[in-house]
Formats: sequence, structure tokens, C-alpha cells
Amino acid sequence: MFDWLIVGAGFAGSVLAERLARERGDRVLVIDKRDHIGGNAFDHHDAAGVLIHRYGPHIFHTNSEAVFAHLSRFTEWRPYEHRVLAEVRSPVTGATLQVPMPINLDTINTLYNLNLTETELEGWFASRAEQVAEVRTSEDVVVGKVGRELHELFFQGYTRKQWALDPSALDKSVTSRVPTRTNRDDRYFTDQFQAMPKHGYTAMFERMLDHPGITIRTGMDFAEARQRFSFRRVIWTGPVDEYFGFRHGKLPYRSLRFRHETLDQDQVLPTGTVNHPAEDTPYTRVSEYKHMTGQAHPKTSITYEFPSAEGDPYYPIPRPENQALYKRYEALADAEADTWFVGRLATYRYYNMDQVVAQALATFRRIEAELPRHPVP
Ligand code: FAD
Ligand code: UDP
Repeated sequence: MFDWLIVGAGFAGSVLAERLARERGDRVLVIDKRDHIGGNAFDHHDAAGVLIHRYGPHIFHTNSEAVFAHLSRFTEWRPYEHRVLAEVRSPVTGATLQVPMPINLDTINTLYNLNLTETELEGWFASRAEQVAEVRTSEDVVVGKVGRELHELFFQGYTRKQWALDPSALDKSVTSRVPTRTNRDDRYFTDQFQAMPKHGYTAMFERMLDHPGITIRTGMDFAEARQRFSFRRVIWTGPVDEYFGFRHGKLPYRSLRFRHETLDQDQVLPTGTVNHPAEDTPYTRVSEYKHMTGQAHPKTSITYEFPSAEGDPYYPIPRPENQALYKRYEALADAEADTWFVGRLATYRYYNMDQVVAQALATFRRIEAELPRHPVP
């Protein structure tokens, strides 16, 4: 008899498993239908011995000192600031160039053969920006700041590929993830804490789950666990619509197909990721792990991301009607006794890793407030 069945061994499930076992002395069974722990952050050494991320590049960044401190119990860190170039055609020369993304001073000066200063660039953006009465969509965000040409060059094709939707049909929160800068800062993120787990994500998850109160079964889904084990309560981190048998219809998720390649050379890309916004290139970005991990190896491994409708659910799709459908599932979830819904899929939110950790820690505090503790042995 377990106190908890935790469905999903990603950040949501693993953070909660550790808290419940260590702080409360609860007996916890963690299952995952995949054959490994770590969820989408899972990393492993490929056939050549290069550390890669099976589900695409995962770069840790947060402004939350509490989240960083919590994860620091289970890993040392390697400082890493992610940089991205976007491959686009210069509207002036027609040449294909790789320029910093997010768009910054160097992006514009390189692309347009200019020599603007920061202040001049502000005016340049303002002269191109379109008036947007109310910023609602992912198109509004960009054309309202930098105008239509840059929107089409950097955002429209990429977004249509990634989401199979025009930016005008997507909530503003999607392209708002990527800022526009007038300075020369070429980091993808500006968070206070930016680092990679020194020995990888999977090693961090192994330490997190290494507790006598935690039993792990990978390669097992919820249906099987329900038959084989008894448990008092459930933490569900899979898709919320799946839990309820798609009662109100399917929540839309966007998927990706990953093409992993190993090359017989030390390094191939100038930065950790190169984005390919052009609509006629079928992938959105290519990433090279050694930039992120700092691994010394004579070979290098890269991953191409091909957006897809079919496959594992990776991205909740932020649109008003999807949010409305999610609200109906959320009402069911709120009414479900002895079951907690946590994580990117269970709460249908386009969350980064740190946000999922924060959500899991907040859920633990709720559990503490609601349920009396066992005596810790
Ligand atoms: P998941 O990691 O998805 O874990 C849920 C687990 O539940 C899965 O392993 C699944 O197999 C299991 N499961 C589902 N249903 C069942 C079932 N019925 N039975 C048993 N098991 C089940 N975040 C960042 O902060 N930085 C990044 O750079 C970044 N890059 C990303 C790149 C890509 C391509 C993607 C898709 C996401 C990226 N993210 C990034 C987001 C990050 O992956 C998530 O925030 C985080 O992994 C979510 O953790 P989770 O535990 O909620 O879900
Ligand atoms: N985006 C874009 N061009 C880019 C980078 C991002 O149009 O070069 C848009 C696209 O819609 C993408 C969103 O901004 O889905 C968020 O980008 P982010 O890099 O945060 O995506 P994630 O890493 O979550 O896949």
C-alpha cells in the first residue's frame, strides 16, 4: 500500500515525490510510461558517447532563488548562457545571414547594413512599428514593436511551422517569450540564474528520487499501475484530458519530431542553437549540445526539431477556445477527490522547467496544509 501514486517522472512528479518522501515520510510510487525518468528533460549519452537531450534542448534559467536553491540540493551547476542565431535573408542584399535572436542592435545593423546606435535604433523601430489598439495576438506583439518586415522575417514562418497557426491566431503570450532589444545583449534569456546541471538532468533526477520511501517503475502506465498496486492518493502529471477519458473532447497539443545526428567533428554550430524561421525549411531549429554541456569529445551531436501534429504532446496551444476547454477539465480536476494535477500537461500551461518546479513546490505546500503528516520514522 502506497500513500501516493505519482504518474509521470518529470519535474512535476519527481519534485513532489522527493518532498513527500523526505519531508513527510510518505511511501511513494513513481511511474512513467516511458522507459526512463526525467520526463522531457531526460538526457543520456548517445552511441558516440555525447550527452544529448532526447526531447530537444533544455536550458535551465530562472529568476526564482527558491527554485534554484531547491534544485541545487540535487546537482552542482555549470554556468551557461544560451545564445541563438537566426538564419534569415537580408532584405537589403538578399544574402543569407546568421544574426542574433532575440533581435538586437547587431541584428539590425548586420541585416540592413547600418551603423545605428541604441538610441537611433529605438527611433528606427518606432518608425516601422504598426499602431495596435489592443495587443491580443502573437502578431500584434511583434508588429506593434518592430513592424511587419521583421515580423515576417523572424516570426511568421517559424510560428506557422511550430504551431500550424499564423501568429495572428495565437495568444500574445507565445511570441512575448522572445523580447526585442536595442542594446547588444545577445543572450536568449536574461534570468538571474542560468546554468546547466553539471552532470546532466538525468543525474539530477536520480539524486532527487534516491530515497528509501520512493519506488520507481518506468515503462508502466497508469492503467497497469492501478491494477497492480494500491495507493491512497494520486499525483497526475500527464495530459489532463487523458485522465478524464477525453470526456469533453481532446485538448490540442503540438508535437515535434526530433532528428538526432552525430558528426565526426569537434563543433559544427557557432552557438548552442540556430533558428530557421523560413517557412520553406521544414525544421525550426538545430541545437548542438556540447555548447550547453561543455563536454569535451572529438565528435559532436545535434538535434533538428520538426514540428508535427502527431506524436507525444509537448506544447499546449495557447488559444482562447483551448483555454475554455481546459477550464472545463480544470473544474473536473478540482472536484476529483484525492488527486492532484501538476505540471505542463496536467494544467495545460506552456511552462518552462522552473515554473513547473515552482508549481510542484506550491502543490506540496497545499498538501501540507490539507493532509496531516505521518510520523517521520
Ligand atoms: P513532462 O516532463 O512531460 O513529464 C510528464 C511525464 O508523464 C512524461 O514523462 C510522460 O511519459 C508521463 N506520463 C504521461 N501520461 C502517463 C501515463 N498515462 N502513465 C504513465 N506516465 C505518463 N523548459 C525550460 O525551462 N527550458 C528549455 O530550454 C526548455 N526547452 C524545451 C524544449 C522542448 C522541445 C520542449 C517540448 C519543452 C521544453 N521546455 C523547456 C519545457 C520543459 O520540458 C517542461 O517545462 C518540463 O519538462 C515539464 O515537466 P512536467 O513534469 O510537467 O512534464
Ligand atoms: N519564435 C519565432 N522565431 C524565433 C523564435 C521564436 O517566431 O526565431 C516564436 C515561435 O512562435 C515560438 C515562440 O516564439 O514558438 C516561443 O519561442 P521559444 O524559443 O521560447 O520556444 P520554445 O523553446 O518554448 O520551443
